[in-house]
Amino acid sequence: MNRYSRRQVIGMGAAASLAPFLRLRAAEDGGKKRLGVALLGLGDYSTNQLAPALQQTKHARLAGIVTGSPDKIPVWQKKYEIPDDCVYNYENFDSIADNKDIDIVYVVTPTGLHPEFAIRAAKAGKHVICEKPMAPTVADCNRMIEASKNAGKTLQIGYRLHWDPYHIRLMEAMKAKEFGDWKSISTANGSVMRNFTGLNAWRVNKELGVAGALYDTGVYCVQGEFYGSQMHPVSVTATKSTERPEHFKEVPETYEWVLEFEDGRKIDGMASYGKSGNHLRVETEKGLLELAPAYNYGGGPRGKTPDGPMDFPGVNQQALQIDGQCAAILGDKPSIVPGEMGCRDIQVLQGIMEAAETGKPHVFGKFPF
Ligand code: NAD
Repeated sequence: MNRYSRRQVIGMGAAASLAPFLRLRAAEDGGKKRLGVALLGLGDYSTNQLAPALQQTKHARLAGIVTGSPDKIPVWQKKYEIPDDCVYNYENFDSIADNKDIDIVYVVTPTGLHPEFAIRAAKAGKHVICEKPMAPTVADCNRMIEASKNAGKTLQIGYRLHWDPYHIRLMEAMKAKEFGDWKSISTANGSVMRNFTGLNAWRVNKELGVAGALYDTGVYCVQGEFYGSQMHPVSVTATKSTERPEHFKEVPETYEWVLEFEDGRKIDGMASYGKSGNHLRVETEKGLLELAPAYNYGGGPRGKTPDGPMDFPGVNQQALQIDGQCAAILGDKPSIVPGEMGCRDIQVLQGIMEAAETGKPHVFGKFPF
């Protein structure tokens, strides 16, 4: 059974006259403050995952929207009872600084736009949740981290799998060396993209999608490589390839890479818009610890340990993630998915890009996390 109770629905008719009272009630839950979240970028992920998840959270509520599409405004306002003064476009968005009902701006635009919006949100004095992958470059990540630090606000990444029971099981087993140390790890995240227009166009555009599948789906592999190994790699070798050049003019279709560790152990990874793959396999001293599929939401991952199949109930990863992130803010506790972690992962992705470009190993510098 779902562990979340649905947020009480407030009648539309009374909304105007009772607005201040209703807003107060919406922001409180049993005397505890619920943080107001404004979704910035109302595309597929906001519409179909994050906004519905925000109806199930206990520490957060959907309080505002920021959009460049005026036609979406009445639909969202009606569906989620968002008052006029909590609706922004990309031009007037900085005035969100004056809105006491909004505590967090959740940046859900194409990757190339994450830095601009995350920095503007921080400068407006808001906490930021930024979707994955954090930003095009490590330099962008550092600017985002600095902006949030200067504002005295948190910056967290939308890494939903840190709240998924299958991934938590794998992370904890590897941390505790429950099945001994790892011997090798293999991971892949790819699917065959068939639509290259409309909402998918930015994913194959260098400025907005950076490196295509490597950034979009490969960031999950990099995450899995870190929590599977519980170590940092020293170098990476990589290749890139494109089977359908007519669609992949700016970014490669597929990246494959091998991370190498100080003691010679290796992890191989693959991210693609042309090949399927969805696994995180850790060969341990006591056998295989595997998630396959690994990186889904909705149906969720499946997995097994050397002791047998994992069997966890399905969860709403996004609701758990947002609640966990809000709990960290409300409790003044460090985030488990801070900007520095997002930056670390971008450092690996940039290293993979460079290794694929040069054909030579990329040696990593010091990691920030
Ligand atoms: P999408 O294309 O459906 O939506 C992108 C939104 O950004 C749209 O509303 C679009 O109007 C807006 N936008 C603003 N400026 C734009 C521009 N110049 N070009 C194109 N769009 C522009 O994409 P999405 O799938 O919702 O992805 C958005 C973000 O969410 C990305 O960072 C993506 O990686 C992330 N995401 C995360 C998950 C996850 O599981 N955590 C899943 C899907 C997407």
